[in-house]
Amino acid sequence: VSALEALAAALPPGAVVTDPAVLADYRQDRALDPDAATPLAVVLAERTADVQAAVRWAAEHRIPVVPRGAGSGLSGGATAVEGGIVVSTERMRGVAIDPTTRMAVVQPGLLNAELKREAARLGLWYPPDPASFEFCSIGGNVATNAGGLCCVKYGVTTDYVLGLEVVLSDGTAVRLGGDRLKDVAGLSLVKLFVGSEGTLGIITEITLRLLPAAPPSRTVSAWFDSTAEAGAAILEIASAIRPSMLEYMDHLSIDAVEDELALGLDREAAAWVIARSDEQDPEGREVRIMLDAFARHGARVSEAPGEEGERLAHARRIAIPSVEKRGRLLLSDVGVAIPRLADLIAGVEAIAAEHRVEIAFIAHAGDGNTHPLVLVGDGDPDHERRAHVAYGEIMSLAIRLGGTITGEHGVGKLKRPWLADQVGDDVIALTQRIKDALDPLGILNPGTIFEAPPKGTTHAR
Ligand SMILES: Cc1cc2nc3c(=O)[nH]c(=O)nc-3n(C[C@H](O)[C@H](O)[C@H](O)COP(=O)(O)OP(=O)(O)OC[C@H]3O[C@@H](n4cnc5c(N)ncnc54)[C@H](O)[C@@H]3O)c2cc1C
Repeated sequence: VSALEALAAALPPGAVVTDPAVLADYRQDRALDPDAATPLAVVLAERTADVQAAVRWAAEHRIPVVPRGAGSGLSGGATAVEGGIVVSTERMRGVAIDPTTRMAVVQPGLLNAELKREAARLGLWYPPDPASFEFCSIGGNVATNAGGLCCVKYGVTTDYVLGLEVVLSDGTAVRLGGDRLKDVAGLSLVKLFVGSEGTLGIITEITLRLLPAAPPSRTVSAWFDSTAEAGAAILEIASAIRPSMLEYMDHLSIDAVEDELALGLDREAAAWVIARSDEQDPEGREVRIMLDAFARHGARVSEAPGEEGERLAHARRIAIPSVEKRGRLLLSDVGVAIPRLADLIAGVEAIAAEHRVEIAFIAHAGDGNTHPLVLVGDGDPDHERRAHVAYGEIMSLAIRLGGTITGEHGVGKLKRPWLADQVGDDVIALTQRIKDALDPLGILNPGTIFEAPPKGTTHAR
């Protein structure tokens, strides 16, 4: 019996896919890494036991396993690896909500939007809202500790995770945390797995806290002729209040979105900031503070009532796909403390000019988390080389500014070369010890966060 036949025998009929046409769809995530491999097989798990069977088989045969949610990741964390399988959770879509405790127990493949909808039916709200919320999974959100637009006020994924079921690299399933709002028994292992990008275990169930329904919010839109003034206004607002959204788009991204939506966005503006307040104050104190700060920094400001505010937030959410239509992107996810945001914006502009590449710049500005999108060009090798140099320089710039190479997308496979520069060799060594303890064979998502073990050692087939 071949190894793949043994895998199929260990799983329900139809769970193991080897059709080359289907495998092609599981090579890449949205980072679209051209170096992605074709997996040996894709396991379409429906329950924890399926994930356990796949991982046990992989451990026995020393075969790499790439966990995959909805494949919307932007760091190559779900990119298939040579000689490995992909374990997809897309069929694991269960959700049960307890309105009494305001908690949800979900399977990892449930889409973020599906959870939001289920919660809303019961008058509840799951806040974390990646711009990709309609097509990313909760498991992927937990594995990357995803952020989003309202996270500036409501926190990121980890702030909502109370418990996990995780399949470890030997196939055992452990339960960590649970439906307790407070629980400090033992090490914070839930936190260890949140953001571990499929390198320490496969998450098969998640217990999440929910909030009462989202309060209504007011939206303010500000157009700037100067990116530096936009940065200064953002700092002023972030230090005065906690807006429920504070997002930034530059000239290039405004232009790309306007091509898509024709909303009448100001293509001439150097920068656009969209801000929200959901403070329930009849005087509208926060809105006034935002309007004043924007005006003081020379912006043309207006309030966008009701549906118009929603249209503007949507415009921000589709910025990445809109810029993507102009060509392949190298997506950065660098972040800095908000007082350094204007320096980061200026530094990225300088990098674009020096290397003669276009870099669109969007940001969850209130979190200091930015996405410079480097356009790779149309196949000219010199342009492509310059784009890669610019991409690396953006990460070095963020590190020099005391920031991070990734605020929410994860290190994945694409940012690993810069990780040690940010965290230092001692932290890399500590992280590796944790990895070795939890995944001694190195089969879980090799090449993501950690360097892949050398060929012919642990992964010998
Ligand atoms: C247009 C666009 C906008 C985006 N906006 C945002 C944003 O605002 N904020 C943000 O944070 N991200 C954003 N993203 C990135 C992406 O949507 C998030 O990283 C999301 O959390 C990935 O979820 P996924 O289900 O698609 O995961 P995948 O891409 O399938 O996987 C992501 C990582 O998680 C691992 N993984 C997935 N499921 C599991 C599991 N069950 N157990 C263990 N590991 C697992 C994978 O191995 C991989 O390392 C955006 C992406 C796009 C395309």
